[in-house]
Amino acid sequence: MKIAVLASSSRGNASVISAGRTTLLVDAGISARRIKLGLEACGLALSEVSGICITHEHTDHTGGLAVLSGKVDATIYCSRYLKDDLGALAPGARYTFLEPGASVRIGDFSVLPISVSHDAVDPLGYVFEADGVRLGYITDTGNVTRAMLPALRGVQALYLESNYDPEMLHNSGRPPELIDRIEGQWGHLSNDQAGDLVRQIAHADLRHIILAHLSPECNTPTCAATAMQSVLDALQHPAQLHVARQAELLPWLQV
Ligand SMILES: [Zn+2]
Ligand SMILES: [Zn+2]
Repeated sequence: MKIAVLASSSRGNASVISAGRTTLLVDAGISARRIKLGLEACGLALSEVSGICITHEHTDHTGGLAVLSGKVDATIYCSRYLKDDLGALAPGARYTFLEPGASVRIGDFSVLPISVSHDAVDPLGYVFEADGVRLGYITDTGNVTRAMLPALRGVQALYLESNYDPEMLHNSGRPPELIDRIEGQWGHLSNDQAGDLVRQIAHADLRHIILAHLSPECNTPTCAATAMQSVLDALQHPAQLHVARQAELLPWLQV
């Protein structure tokens, strides 16, 4: 199994995961054109995408879906409660609805949707399993939910939101209610919260951690990476750390 991140930040998110003969997109929050170009940079054509797994309906995860769904013959996988929201965005698309905690088979993948805590309709994280390895995919969550930890224990790779540095957030000049929303239990994970999650699930075979969904105003790649590296150093853990960016492709990582 391998993963590449086409783009990630509060401004737009899309990743591609591939195993055997199956290629999945996770979220489509950048333009269809950028998704096509990103896939081509990964050596793939749009036509090779067989499924699009959506985490939740916010525009930074679905902004490209309307155009994209007209260009690919791919099933959209999402919570059943997104039927109306995504149905309006991509009315002609084929949908499969997911239940948190219930694994589904998608080509060569087994995909486990898990509940996360975010101000969206039934938002989901995922654990993708193929080729005997597992990848956890957790973004847009205000805290670590009970469902997450058992699902993430044993993953070989983790794509994890590390959205903000609290000091930068408080100095950002944002309205207090927006700061409360981001820090609240339905908001986003801080760098330290991301570190806490890793501390709880780290094991010898966790090989890659991809820090994702960084806020451009309230975080920096250096700040996020330094916070996570200090957690790994304290654990004497050799996991490789990567930071996904908005404007640059994170090329294939073999899980
Ligand atoms: Zn988001
Ligand atoms: Zn969101």
